[in-house]
Amino acid sequence: MDLEYSQEHESFRTSVRTFLKGWPLQGNEAQLPIEQQETLFRKRGIDAGFVYRKVPKKYGGSEQDDDAIKDQIIQEEFHAAQAPRDLSTQGAGMLVPTLLEFGTEAQKERYIPPALFGEENWCQGYSEPGSGSDLASLQCQARLEGDEWILNGQKIWTSSAQRAQMMFGLFRTEPDAKKHAGISYLLVPMDTPGLEVRPLREMGGGHEFNEVFFTDARIPAGNIVASRGQGWQVSRATLVHERNLIGNPNMMREAFGDLLNLARTRQIEGRPAIEDLGFRRRIAEIEGYVQTGELSGMRQFTAAHRGEMAKVMRPMMMNKVSSTDTMQMIMKCAYDLLGGDGVLAPTEEELDNWGRTTTSSGWVLQYIFSMGPAIAGGATNIQLNIIGERGYGLPRDLRKAN
Ligand SMILES: Cc1cc2nc3c(=O)[nH]c(=O)nc-3n(C[C@H](O)[C@H](O)[C@H](O)COP(=O)(O)OP(=O)(O)OC[C@H]3O[C@@H](n4cnc5c(N)ncnc54)[C@H](O)[C@@H]3O)c2cc1C
Repeated sequence: MDLEYSQEHESFRTSVRTFLKGWPLQGNEAQLPIEQQETLFRKRGIDAGFVYRKVPKKYGGSEQDDDAIKDQIIQEEFHAAQAPRDLSTQGAGMLVPTLLEFGTEAQKERYIPPALFGEENWCQGYSEPGSGSDLASLQCQARLEGDEWILNGQKIWTSSAQRAQMMFGLFRTEPDAKKHAGISYLLVPMDTPGLEVRPLREMGGGHEFNEVFFTDARIPAGNIVASRGQGWQVSRATLVHERNLIGNPNMMREAFGDLLNLARTRQIEGRPAIEDLGFRRRIAEIEGYVQTGELSGMRQFTAAHRGEMAKVMRPMMMNKVSSTDTMQMIMKCAYDLLGGDGVLAPTEEELDNWGRTTTSSGWVLQYIFSMGPAIAGGATNIQLNIIGERGYGLPRDLRKAN
């Protein structure tokens, strides 16, 4: 493993830092709604070559040479500056790379630019009431009639569907095929007649989840990515991007920094909590996990840079499991530091930001929210099965027959 950055990469880091002095926006621009500020900043990031580096210019990206170390530097610096990044939405982070791999030219031209700039929001319609971990058992049906798909059934846990203009979803189109081979990946406008979004309240009090119902909802036949029955392969590509988003080690470092600040400011018996032996021990242990995650990330970047990705597939698969575990440890430790303030209810603003503040009630919400990522994009138990079976070649777990 190579832990030193080259001179070229250190000067690249300086240019990223200089660019980031433009965030947060200042003056009149700071008065714009936050979504518009983020779009403006991302567009500047494209011009500077720091954002959407893998997306071709003709679809709105900055089309840079493949350089995993520069990608890592950008991630680190954008995280430290809390600047809007390129991969933080379901559209830009999950749909766009999937369309780049599987979409038609017309689909790329139509959907990628507005997804990048946040002008069209996407939600992910995979899970159903009886199909989460066993996603391939999904029952939501799409029947081709003339030049339209007719959709019937239900999705659940659809994050941010209430704000989305489009859904990428999995539907059973070949009812007679084996379960994995009977699924197609469809693009569904959320204003389609017969599509209804119903909110689900979370235990933290927020509303990010929804149920989505389809009753004879009709969409154009061309809104399919890849061919009929290939939806499972397409969805695997989206899931890899989702897990990489969730497993980003920079999030741990940022949250750990906030935890340290909290431990310095909270008092235990008149002394800063960071001087309490019990909390010192816990925080030191957590830092070990944070550093391990970072080193594992660097190992992957080094291998990617040398074209040796096959060597690091196992640690890559472990990223999501280890980083979601560590985030839970960080949030639990913060929650314990709050003492009696741990009963404070989050504000509306904190609910909107998923607790991304460091007030006591913001920490409470982050603690509650930290349980979600270990389930989203595939629950930890399932990830461990995949790592064991595909990563280490262990015998397959018992499965129901198809
Ligand atoms: C924060 C968050 C955001 C989400 N956003 C979306 C979204 O936008 N779109 C979407 O479609 N879905 C979304 N989901 C749903 C998510 O994909 C599912 O919750 C997840 O796949 C698990 O499915 P399930 O909830 O049905 O649990 P189940 O599959 O019922 O699992 C319940 C428990 O049983 C365990 N289990 C199940 N099968 C096995 C097995 N074979 N071996 C060992 N253990 C097993 C699981 O690990 C889990 O602990 C989101 C979930 C969360 C928490």
